[in-house]
Amino acid sequence: MAVARKSVSTKTRIHIFDTTLRDAEQCPGGRMTVDEKLKVAHQLARLGVDVIEAGFPYSSPGDFEAVQRIVREVKGPTIAGLALCRLECIDRTAEALKAGKRVRLHVFLSTSPQHREGILRKSKEEVLEMAVSSVKRARQQIAEVEFSPMDATRTEFDFLCAVVEATIEAGASIINIPDTLGYALPHEFGDLIRRLREAVPNSARARISVHCHDDLGLATANSLAGVLNGATQVECTINGLGERAGNAALEEVACILTTRRELKRRFATGIVLKEIYRTSRLVRETTGMPVQPNKAIVGANAFAHSSGVHVDGVIKLMQRRASFEIIRPQTIGREKSEIVLTSRSGRKALNHRLGELGFKLSPAELDKTYQRFLALADQRKQVTDDELESLVADELRVGAQETYRLDYLHVVSGGTTIPTATVRLVRDGDSSQAVASGVGSVDAVYKAIAQVIKAPHRLVDYNVSSVTGGTDALGEVTVRIEDRSGTTHTGRGSSMDIIEASAKAYLQALNKLVFRSGQTAASARKKTRKA
Ligand SMILES: [Zn+2]
Repeated sequence: MAVARKSVSTKTRIHIFDTTLRDAEQCPGGRMTVDEKLKVAHQLARLGVDVIEAGFPYSSPGDFEAVQRIVREVKGPTIAGLALCRLECIDRTAEALKAGKRVRLHVFLSTSPQHREGILRKSKEEVLEMAVSSVKRARQQIAEVEFSPMDATRTEFDFLCAVVEATIEAGASIINIPDTLGYALPHEFGDLIRRLREAVPNSARARISVHCHDDLGLATANSLAGVLNGATQVECTINGLGERAGNAALEEVACILTTRRELKRRFATGIVLKEIYRTSRLVRETTGMPVQPNKAIVGANAFAHSSGVHVDGVIKLMQRRASFEIIRPQTIGREKSEIVLTSRSGRKALNHRLGELGFKLSPAELDKTYQRFLALADQRKQVTDDELESLVADELRVGAQETYRLDYLHVVSGGTTIPTATVRLVRDGDSSQAVASGVGSVDAVYKAIAQVIKAPHRLVDYNVSSVTGGTDALGEVTVRIEDRSGTTHTGRGSSMDIIEASAKAYLQALNKLVFRSGQTAASARKKTRKA
């Protein structure tokens, strides 16, 4: 009988903990609706992350609902909810999580002298006691508990050890060491992780995690230093989003661990690399936070392009490419598809391709997307995957919040003409029309739209990019507006005509604002009735 020889993997499995929906969501402009969070969470599951930190349920009813729905609807990763070390906060977080099988309650408490004295006004003993009783409270309700001593890198080493030991004893099975202010240097941070593991007697009973911020551009380097010194969970975000300068970028951490052979031999993650680019795009579109062109891995210029180079130049470039590339664009899902759809491709072919790209559309959504696909395919011979994704993103993001619909748009501009726009919007079957002039066509359109939708707001950001090259490219516009309460709302739109894309994006952002203010008004009415 032949004996099958199994090679036993000696690799250390590094868990990837994505906190895009929590840490990045807290930053200005990172806000997402519940539906948007769900979409991102489904994509994170496809990407193969081990843990999705879905939110901070105690912070708002919206966050509570998002965590609860992600727990119920997203299969695969463990879903975590963040909580302060306060009883009511822990209980509320446990409530949002309790329907799930694979869930984690993540409690955090500041341990540094600066935070103990300045914010908490508590002694070391009191802080230690709060941490222990909070972990115990969390464990009574949820089996898996993670504890983070916030501002760990500025905490006295002995006290940090005491807190870590006590919280492991109290039942935390994951201990996360955050460099909250992004102040640590890689060799220091690596040392901290190693010394902590050596000094804390029960450290082997917990998984050690790192959470690094990018204030000095060292988040990824510090995370890697943590891994090299025994951390087996990395907390990170897509596109490196997050508070202030952001967190360690998931795509960078994942690619470092597979690109460098000596690291690949020692470590493994569950990340499906070819889903990286799509995830990055989805997060960019959903949050409206642009990715800098020179961003590692996912930036527009991260890989050499052949545009503008002569044909023989391209061939030479292709031949030399291998010697310049350390990662191939295909590896992270940036390849151009072999399958090209044309105007003759039917609805079935479109649906099939969208399925391959990871989109599941309802019949109504497919209908709308197909109409737009035909319009685009009529003008361009071929429709690329990037363009398809952009069209679908338009349909998927509108949904229930489309209070106002663009019915008619006409712009006169050019030469000595004063740019003037006529806009007609429909709400519940009633149409309203407005005419406005502006310094440019987009300005005129925006003024006309704002005349119809009289919701106070401020335009914070307007961004145009082209999905593919050329003047006949599909243009994508992202806008961010801020309402009176300071909440930002993002809208995006795509079209071959940049004015139309701009109108759609603005309208979508305004629709969200109107939808939200309707919700706030309704809950205010409820409260007054109760009172
Ligand atoms: Zn953070």
